[in-house]
Amino acid sequence: MIDAKPFGIENFTAVYVLRGEKAALIEGGPASGAERLLTGLREIGVDLKEIAYIMVTHIHVDHWGGASLILDEMPNAKVIAHPKGLTHMANPDKLWEQSKAVLGEVADIFGKPAPIPVERLIPAEDGMIINLGDMEIQVIETLGHAPHHVSYYERLSGSLFPGETAGMHVKDLNAIIPATPPVIILEKLFESIDKLIRLNPEIIYYTHFGPADNAVEKLNVYAKQLRIWSSTINECLRNNEDYDAILARLMERDPNFKVAFEYIRKHPVIGRALKSIIQGFIVNGFSCKIPSKS
Ligand SMILES: [Zn+2]
Repeated sequence: MIDAKPFGIENFTAVYVLRGEKAALIEGGPASGAERLLTGLREIGVDLKEIAYIMVTHIHVDHWGGASLILDEMPNAKVIAHPKGLTHMANPDKLWEQSKAVLGEVADIFGKPAPIPVERLIPAEDGMIINLGDMEIQVIETLGHAPHHVSYYERLSGSLFPGETAGMHVKDLNAIIPATPPVIILEKLFESIDKLIRLNPEIIYYTHFGPADNAVEKLNVYAKQLRIWSSTINECLRNNEDYDAILARLMERDPNFKVAFEYIRKHPVIGRALKSIIQGFIVNGFSCKIPSKS
């Protein structure tokens, strides 16, 4: 695993290096982590020419910008991503505009990806197997966090790379945090989590951040957390409660959030994103404004 450390932010964006007969990366980090990614690959002694694939879980800019900037150094690597994302990877201008609109200053922390030549892009079709010699990676379409999201499952070791379908994980606190952009499709996300549970994985490799055991239990905890957040946030809005009241209620009802709140508040990315994470749960029909004192 390489920590891409955008702007020095540690333990937030992981890039996983798989080494079978062929080498591959899962995720490509953000553009601002490109140099760090390159250094990391050299440090662990990966011959960049041997990298055959870069498997991207979805096209949000923190998941492939880094690899896009150093693709010339990996002349034999093809980039695999959901078919719906490929045109944006070939021409990221529109994606970048949307990222700035949704993420604000967080987009600048990640940086703008470079276009990837079309001939180097491969669509990640559901069920497809990517053979690395002694590793078999299965593509699982897991929509919800984004309409262009896939997860990767290494079948021989039971290793799951869920991208953001399983939320974010803070190892030191053993806490899970929702990864829910404002455009989340919650029903699809529940279906996707169920799909991952049915694989019965052993180890879960979070992009945000790091490996963790008890994969099935963690997936179940995340599904439960999403239910708590969804019901709590919408209940608060019906009662016209403000943002601070929503946070207080979530802390009452979700032990993970209670444990992680201070960490989230101080985190340069998650702290800035918290309001938009909450926005993701607001069901259609509500005016999407969260009343706010602050
Ligand atoms: Zn992400």
